[in-house]
This record gives sequence, C-alpha cells and structure tokens, in this order.
Amino acid sequence: MKAPVTQDVHTIPRKLPEGGKINLIGLTRDALREALIAIGTPEKQAKMRTNQLWQWLYHWGVRDFALMTNLAKDFRVTLAEHFVIELPEVVTRQVSEDGTRKYLVRIAGGHEVEVVYIPEDGRGTLCVSSQVGCTLTCSFCHTGTQKLVRNLTAGEIIGQVMLARDDLGEWPEKGAANDPTGRLLSNIVLMGMGEPLYNFENVRDAMKIAMDGEGIALGRRRITLSTSGVVPEIARTAQEIGCLLAVSFHATTDAVRDVLVPINKRWNIATLMDALREYPKVSNSERITFEYVMLHGVNDSDEDAHRLVALLQGVPAKVNLIPFNEWPGAPYTRSSNNRIRAFATILMEAGYASPIRTPRGEDIMAACGQLKSATERSRKSRAQIAAEAGL
Ligand code: SAH
Ligand code: SF4
Repeated sequence: MKAPVTQDVHTIPRKLPEGGKINLIGLTRDALREALIAIGTPEKQAKMRTNQLWQWLYHWGVRDFALMTNLAKDFRVTLAEHFVIELPEVVTRQVSEDGTRKYLVRIAGGHEVEVVYIPEDGRGTLCVSSQVGCTLTCSFCHTGTQKLVRNLTAGEIIGQVMLARDDLGEWPEKGAANDPTGRLLSNIVLMGMGEPLYNFENVRDAMKIAMDGEGIALGRRRITLSTSGVVPEIARTAQEIGCLLAVSFHATTDAVRDVLVPINKRWNIATLMDALREYPKVSNSERITFEYVMLHGVNDSDEDAHRLVALLQGVPAKVNLIPFNEWPGAPYTRSSNNRIRAFATILMEAGYASPIRTPRGEDIMAACGQLKSATERSRKSRAQIAAEAGL
C-alpha cells in the first residue's frame, strides 16, 4: 500500500469568542431571531434579518459580516460587535489513496474529534462526530474505550459539515441553484465518534440547519443517524428530526448483544425492535439500516443469519455487513470473506439487501470504529516527534 498523502494544515488557531460574543453558528432560526432582537433589531424586522443572515451563513458560507452586502453598513458593524462566526479548527487533514479525507478537528477546550469524508461515484458522504469519545462501552469499538469528555455543541456538529465544504470548495457561486444533486458532499451520516442520541438536542439542532432549504439544503433523506439503540430517543428522532435511521445491531440473541452492545441490558432486542417497527411510520421514511459487524466465531454463523431474518420480519430493512476493523488490543478478529459472503447470501435469499461494506480510508485509520486509535496514534507520533527533536 502506498503511503497516504498527509497534509498538516497549521491553521492559525481561531480565537475564542472575545468579550462574551455569541457564535452564530449552530443557533436555530428561532435562537438567531432572539439574538437579533436582543441586540436591538426591531421585532418587525427580525424575521427578514434572520433570513438574510441565515443565507449568508449557510447558503453562501460567508464568515465576515462586512461582506453581507444586503445589510446596512451600521447593522453589519453592530453584528460584529456582538457576534462571531466560528467553526472548529482543522488541525490535520489526511487524504487516503482511495480519496477518503480525514480531518482532525479541535474544539473549544482543546478537545479533538475526527470527521471523515468518503467520496463515491457522483456523490460523497461526510461521517460526523457527535461526542468526544463515548459513554457506552461496546466491546468491539475503540471509541468506546475512550472516556467521554463532552457532548459537542450544535455549532461544533454543523461546523464539521461547513469545514468539509470549505475544504471541498463547495459553497455555491452566485446564481447557482441550491440543489444537492451531484454535490461532492451530498450526504451526512452521524456515524463518527459518540452516541448521537445521548446528545439529542444538539444533534437535532445541527441537522435542522443542515436540512434547511435556504442553506445547506441536504434533505432529511440524505442524513442517516446511527444509534446503538437508545430506545426512548428513537421515537423523538422520528418526530423531531425525521432523518433516516441506522441501528448498530450486531447480534441476534440478547446474551451476545449484552456483551457486544451493553446498552442492550437496558433495552433488549425485543424492546428495540418495537421502537424500530414504529420508526418508518412516524418519520415517513424508508428502510432502516441494520449495521452488523462481522466478528469471527461470535455473531457470524448461519444460525445468526437465520435468526436475523426472523427478527427483521415486518420491518423495512437493509443490512450493512461491516467486516470488523481491527485495532490494537481488540478482543475480536474479522470473519473470513467466505463466511461474510455465506451470511450475506442467507439474507439476500430472504429478500434483504445486504451489501458488504468495503472499509474506506484504512491507510489513514479512518474506517468504522478506528477513530479513537487514529487520534491516539497522531498524539503519540506528535509526542515522538517532540521527543526526537529533544523538546
Ligand atoms: N454510536 C453510534 C454511532 C457510531 S456509528 C452507534 O454505535 O451506532 C459507527 C458504526 O461503526 C457502528 O455501527 C459501530 O457499531 C461500528 N463499529 C464500531 N467499531 C467497529 C469496528 N472496530 N469495526 C467495524 N465497525 C465498527
Ligand atoms: Fe459508542 Fe457507538 Fe462505539 Fe458503541 S459502537 S461504543 S455506542 S461509538
């Protein structure tokens, strides 16, 4: 394998909001309106000003109040006195030989999360993080061994989408239609670090911004939220976000799922399936994606495949088979290709689409479940560099 193209972008660290200034990125339309009223915008004008600002921020990607030419000059000055427009800072950007890009992003407090862009034919998916680390402890997931540091804010979540658009050069030109078809960044998956449904409000507000037709305009069917099975929040996701849902299923008996996805001890397979059966009705969406990591000798038998088929009855579903991505010290190994194919065949014969996911960006440790190790590695290598340089 060729060496990955690594680029360190030593951006000038963006300053923290000075003097209690509010960052506009991540505010909902309502919160933005309130913020404008709070600085003296007459209530009558507030809706129009909100719309104008919204388009500058999320349609044009403008970061400087001075460039917002349809706003009066003195109003632009007032805005700059009270507000800032800030994204998380990109610390490093790596490009895999398969075109996958991984950004290490620094958020307030010096914490770091990873964001992965996966180009595909005629489209591209951004894998977004919702938390620093994860409080859950799925036994096959490296992120789960990292202690949660904190939830990301809505601004830090939508900021990941915006910085990727910056890097892809994808803010529209004047006069361009606001159609997401054919965009480089055409889809979002909440499948990075963290459990999105343990950070519900911030994830919801950020995704509302992503979906808004006067801004980034990625419709709700272009967004997939992945959960390990936080049952009470699944109905809320249908009602309040309405995006597509993926569930980290990974086992067909409670005994095995209790070990792989310990949240199963709280909400078991039967309870989870009840919530999933309701999801498409409430959100008016299509199939639910069942993610299933293939672990040698643990969950990959023919019996598992048949049990999975039985469980899926009555749920519009597709199954994503994920070959296990190994990490240092992982207690599992990946199922053989033949085993994965045999498992997929049983599902396909029962009528379920069951693509085997090709790991992307492995050379830059950007594949599913590798995100923590990537950060640790880069930390280690930075420490090593410092040691070698005698610092
Ligand atoms: N916390 C959420 C969102 C993360 S999604 C969730 O668990 O759904 C990341 C996906 O990658 C999940 O389906 C997760 O189960 C899977 N995953 C985690 N570690 C993995 C590994 N080492 N190899 C393959 N897939 C893994
Ligand atoms: Fe957390 Fe998801 Fe990893 Fe489980 S699989 S530890 S829920 S990030």
